[in-house]
Amino acid sequence: MTTDHWSPLLDIPPFPAERYAITAARLGAILHTRNDIAIVQAEAVVALEAAATSIIRPGMKAINIVTSPYGSWFGNWMRLSGGEVIDVTASPARAIELDAVAETIETHPDATVLSLVHAESASGIGNPLAEIIHLARKRGLLTIVDAVASIGGHHLDVDTLGIDIAVIGPQKALAGPAGLSALSISPAAWDLIGRPGGPRNSILSLSDLKPWIDGGYGAPAGTAVPLEWHALHAALDRLEREGLDGVIARHQLAACATRAGLTAMGVSCWTDDRTNSNLVTTTELPPDIPVEVLLAEAIRLGQPLAAGVGPGAERLIRFTHTGQQARFDTVMALISTYGRSLEGLGHDVDIGSACSAVLDCYAA
Ligand SMILES: *Cc1c(COP(=O)(O)O)cnc(C)c1O
Repeated sequence: MTTDHWSPLLDIPPFPAERYAITAARLGAILHTRNDIAIVQAEAVVALEAAATSIIRPGMKAINIVTSPYGSWFGNWMRLSGGEVIDVTASPARAIELDAVAETIETHPDATVLSLVHAESASGIGNPLAEIIHLARKRGLLTIVDAVASIGGHHLDVDTLGIDIAVIGPQKALAGPAGLSALSISPAAWDLIGRPGGPRNSILSLSDLKPWIDGGYGAPAGTAVPLEWHALHAALDRLEREGLDGVIARHQLAACATRAGLTAMGVSCWTDDRTNSNLVTTTELPPDIPVEVLLAEAIRLGQPLAAGVGPGAERLIRFTHTGQQARFDTVMALISTYGRSLEGLGHDVDIGSACSAVLDCYAA
C-alpha cells in the first residue's frame, strides 16, 4: 500500500475554480490598480523575463536602470529579444541618481520603454520610483517596474503613478509562496504585447495569459499548481487580517529601528533617508574584518547575518527584516549579534545603546 505515509503537502485538493479571479482581484488591490492582473505559475524571475520578452521586438529602444544584478538581467532579456538597451547604471550598490535618468531620457527621445527595480533586497537601497515614473511618463515611455522585493514593504500605487507593468512575487514582504508571481498590465502595455512577433505557446508569453484573464480566470491553462495557489490564498488571508497598511508600517518600523540601533552603536548605515528600503538595512563592514569572519562569528552566536549581493555590495552586511522577519525580536537579534560580533573582533561598539535605541523605536 502507498497510503501509509501522510503529509499535509501531498495529495493537495484542487484550488477551487472560482478562487482564481478572487486571487487576481486581491493582488490588484495590493497594487492599487484596475489594470489586468496576469498570474504566472512560476517564480518571479520568470515573470520578469516574460515581461521583457513579451514587450520588446527587434529594434525597439529601452532605457534600463541598473541598481543590482536583477536590473542587469532584465536588460539582457530585453537584448535577447532584439531590443537596443541603454543601461543607466548607478554607482555600485547605490540608488540611481534622478539626474542620470533625466539625462538619458533626454538623449534618447526614440526610446519606447523604461524599466527599473523599485527596492533592492541585494543592497538595501530604494530607488526614487515616483520621480522616475513621472519623468518617463512626461516622455510617453512605457514603464516596467520590478516590485518583487518592495511589494508589501513600500506603498506602491500603480494607477496613481501610472505604471504600465508592475511585477510582483509573494515570497518577500508579502511572506507568501515563491512558486507564483503576478504582473499588472495596462492597456498600453497590452497593445505592445499584442503586436506580431512576440512569444506564443511559451511560459514567457504574456499573450498566452490574455484569454484566461479576459475569460474571467477559470482554471489556468495547463496543469494548475494547487499547493502554491492555496499557499498564496493563505498568505493573502494573513496579510488582509493585518491590513496592507499595517504590513507596510511594520516594515517601516523594523527598518527605522534597525537604523536607529546601528547609529546608536556607532555604526553608519549604507543608505540615507532618500535611499533607504524598508526590506533590508545594510552597513559597510570595517575594512580590517573579512566578510567570512564576521559571518562565522554571527553563526557562532546562533543568528546568521548575510552579505550583500552584486557589484559593490560584497562588503555590505545585510539585516533582513522582510516579511515575517519585520518584527521586534528579529531586529533585536540582528543588531545585538552584529554588535557582539564586532566587539569579538576587536571593535569598540556600544551594544547597550543600540539595544535601547531599538527598544525606544518599538516602545514609541
Ligand atoms: C527577490 C527578487 C526577485 C526574484 O528573484 P529570486 O531571487 O529568484 O526570488 C526579483 N527582483 C528583485 C528586486 C528581488 O529582490
